[in-house]
Parts: sequence; C-alpha cells; structure tokens
Amino acid sequence: MKFVVKSKKVLTGGVLKKASVLIENGKVADVFEYDKIPDCVTEDFGELVLMPGLTDTHVHINEPGRNEWEGFETATKAALAGGITMLADMPLNSIPVTTTSDSLDLKIHSSKNKLYADTGFYGGLIPDNADQLGPLIEKGVLGLKAFMIDSGIDEFPFVNEGDLRRALSSVSLRNVPELPVLVHAETDCGFIRPDNYSGYSFRSFLDARPAEWEHEAVKILIKLCREFRHHIHIVHLSSAGSVELIREAKSEGLPLTTETCPHYLFFSSEEIPDNDTRFKCTPPIRDSKNREKLWEAVIDGTIDFIVSDHSPCDPGLKFLNEGNFENAWGGIAGLQFSLPVFWTAAKERGISIEKLSGLMSKRTSEFLGLGNKKGKIEKGFDADIVVFNPDKSFKVEEKNIFHKHKTTPYSGRELCGVTETVFVRGVKVFDKGRIISPAAGEIVLNKKFY
Ligand SMILES: [Zn+2]
Repeated sequence: MKFVVKSKKVLTGGVLKKASVLIENGKVADVFEYDKIPDCVTEDFGELVLMPGLTDTHVHINEPGRNEWEGFETATKAALAGGITMLADMPLNSIPVTTTSDSLDLKIHSSKNKLYADTGFYGGLIPDNADQLGPLIEKGVLGLKAFMIDSGIDEFPFVNEGDLRRALSSVSLRNVPELPVLVHAETDCGFIRPDNYSGYSFRSFLDARPAEWEHEAVKILIKLCREFRHHIHIVHLSSAGSVELIREAKSEGLPLTTETCPHYLFFSSEEIPDNDTRFKCTPPIRDSKNREKLWEAVIDGTIDFIVSDHSPCDPGLKFLNEGNFENAWGGIAGLQFSLPVFWTAAKERGISIEKLSGLMSKRTSEFLGLGNKKGKIEKGFDADIVVFNPDKSFKVEEKNIFHKHKTTPYSGRELCGVTETVFVRGVKVFDKGRIISPAAGEIVLNKKFY
C-alpha cells in the first residue's frame, strides 16, 4: 500500500512547509516537494497542518481490574481523537498493579485486540519488588514508576529515599542507566490544619498539599541522580518553586528530565470553585503566578515535555454531589483534550506548532527510546500523522468524549485546535470525529534490554 498525503503546512525537518509525504508499508518512505508527487493515490489536505502523531508518556488506563474506571479500548480511541498515536500506560491503577513480571503478562494479554493507538507499559517500583525489576525490564517495560507519597492505591506503596537508593544500586538498574525511573515527586513533610480548614474548600485542599512537599522530593531525586547517574524523571511537576533547582541540576549535566501537564498550564487555583472535585489531582493545580512560571520553564526547556496524566475513575468516586476534596479520587480525565488544551493556552503565549510538536511528539518519543521511529515526519519513521486545524475552535461536550466516563474539568470549555484526521502507521484510523478502523494499535516493548 503506497499513497501520498500533502499539504501547504507539513511539519517536517523541524519546520512547517509545503510538502508531499509518500507513505509505504506504514512508514514515511520519503518527503517530497509539494508539487513533485509520485504517481499514486494522493490526498490533499490543503492548508491544514500535517504533524507527527503525539506520544503521551503518562496515561492511567486501569485495565485489567478497574475496567469500570477506564479501559484500553476507550482510552486509546480517546487518544486518537486527541491526535495521540502512541501512549505509555502507568503500572497503576489496574488490578493487579504492574509490579511483577506476571502482572505485566496479564496487562499485555488483556490489551490484545483493544488497542487503537500504539501502547507501551511501565513497571512499578515499590519497596518490596526488587526481585521483579530485572524480569520487568527484560520483558520490555518502557520505564519504572515510583511514588514518594501515598499513591491512593494500597497495593502500590510509596518508596522512601532508602528504597530508591537500593533499587538504583541493584544490578538490574545499574545495567540500564538510561531506562527512566519516573517518580511522583511529593513527600509528606506534615501539615497542621488551621481552624478554618474545610474538606469542601479548594483553598484548603491546596494548602494541605504545599509546594514544599514537591521541593523536598525534587531535592532527594537530584541527589540520587547525581549519585547514580541514572535517568530520573519527575512526573507532573506542579510547583514552579522547584524549577530553579531542576534547571541547575540539568546544567550540571545530570540525566534528569521533567514533565508537566496541560491542566497545570491551563487552569489556576483562583478560578476553581469550592466543591468542584473534577479539579482534584495531586500535586494540586496552583495559582496563576505559579502557572506563568511553569510556562517560562516550558519555553526555556527546563520542563522537557507535556503529557496528559489522564487519571480517570468511576464518577461516583469523585463525589461530585458531596463536593468533598478529601474523599474524592485525585486525578483528572484529559487524554482526549491534551492537545487542544495545551494549544489554546500556548497560542495565547505566542508558542508555535513546531514548539508544540517538540514538546508533545518528538521529546516524548525520545523519552520512550523511540526517537528513531516516532515523533517526526521523516524518511524511515512510522507514518503516524495528525491532520490538525489549529484555527478551528470547538466546545467540549459529552457527546464528543471518547473517555469511558464524561466527567472532566474541561466540560463546556471552548478550545482551539481540532484533530481532523489521524493515521497510525499509514492507516487512516480517525476521521472527522469518528473512529473508522478496527483496533490496529501495536504493543510497543522496549527491545533494547533483551
Ligand atoms: Zn499519573
């Protein structure tokens, strides 16, 4: 199967330009000048942007075991609707959690024939699974994930500095210093509730999860990164107070990377009403001053990339009627809207599509070890292509949400940037709001360490 897609705005070689892309056997066979089309079927997308499919390295799919929260089919369909062609699934909140080699087998087995986007898996790093890290790595996990604070799931306990040190000094990890260890960087430094504390107040929830908790964890991680020279990755940085520390560590040459998420760059705590638990996530969404500092770190590259941290649950667990932040599940459902949310806010700040693609496709693909396969429209790369209209707006409405549940803080929002069409490895899988192909996503394992 050989065909051409063309547009006046193809993102290739780091810039938007007029070009034709020849696709053959699921790969980009070549990129031609706009008018020099080989003799084959051609689809002309006019002025629409053709960019590499997004890679989202932080998604909680929750299957098997918590299929009622989300599942492979619904999550990967939502990913496509949001221009995401490759994602990595977190080791929680499925049952069992992916902390053993057997549980990874179960995960892989239960995803069969349900994947619409390409999908890889992380393994979990918990205090007592040292013997499982080697087997998980050999089976092809794309990284290991740990928490430094309560994960919300009993069977996924958090690690302390000593646990992390033991894992990093184990043979399993010493042999693979480039395999990312992803860490939820918050550590409980204590909090004394003031008299006016209320479980229904967003302000109280925010105060009870102070920036210092992130800062202390980041300090420990930088120390370990320096000690072991192992790739450590800080997931969902929310506090800009730690940016300077991360910037210094990176300038020192440490193998440290950081991500943040669209919700931290789009919302601010000032606008979140009390009782609205759709906004509960940890670390919390902070104030607008903090948000603008995060943007500075995104622009200057201190924050390496942007991912969704899609973490939905059964709507009942958000306790929306009660509106109690203490009882509600902490996690924001936003996989499908990651691209337009980021683009809506980025555009206002003068950020280009090229920059966006670097943050959401190129660097995220590199992070997973797929930098020579995904994240670019260039000869030899997978033909994962998104046809994107950066000027069209839409309103987030339930009927258009592909997530298993429709609860999301983006409901009713007017967003800019529409995913018109998506190709995964050369197959048109999404077009004009509909999934048009059977599940053909592949399981992506890390073959580097076999
Ligand atoms: Zn997460």
